[in-house]
Amino acid sequence: MQHYLAQLLADLRAAHHNQPPPVDYRLLHSEYSHLPDEIAYVAEWENAPEQSFEELFGIPASAFPPEEKLTGEQMAQLVEAILELWRAWRMGTYLPEGAPPRLCYRVLTDFWRNEKIDYSSTGSSTLYLCNNDIPTCLWGEQFCECRDLVDDWDMDDFAGPSDEDSGLPF
Ligand SMILES: [Zn+2]
Repeated sequence: MQHYLAQLLADLRAAHHNQPPPVDYRLLHSEYSHLPDEIAYVAEWENAPEQSFEELFGIPASAFPPEEKLTGEQMAQLVEAILELWRAWRMGTYLPEGAPPRLCYRVLTDFWRNEKIDYSSTGSSTLYLCNNDIPTCLWGEQFCECRDLVDDWDMDDFAGPSDEDSGLPF
């Protein structure tokens, strides 16, 4: 496993420099042909195709070994390598404070396997690793950040008009 892991870490590092080249959509779509250089990136933002992480980085999700084959330290190394790769592509994210490496590894590799992103050669993006559904969120009850969002909502705002000021006679 140590040899395999070293190879995988090297592949992740090599992918730092594999970003797809910018696409000039002014050449592809006539409605953009008059866009000046300074804002040509807007056309790229609007047209960037959704791609899986596998397609984008050229590394299949199956390259990541199952949790039971890895030590906590090896999972921590892979988590750091994935985050470094994403940073190199200007894709930021953050992990819940105190989340153990095994859980981070599970969430990141699941994200890699299932999510898509419309990558563009300029600008930056933030990847949200919570799925906004507490019961199924992979972070689990302890680390799911979806809960914070729900708690932050002032439920009174959603209650509708109260009886007193509804203006109805009954
Ligand atoms: Zn969550």
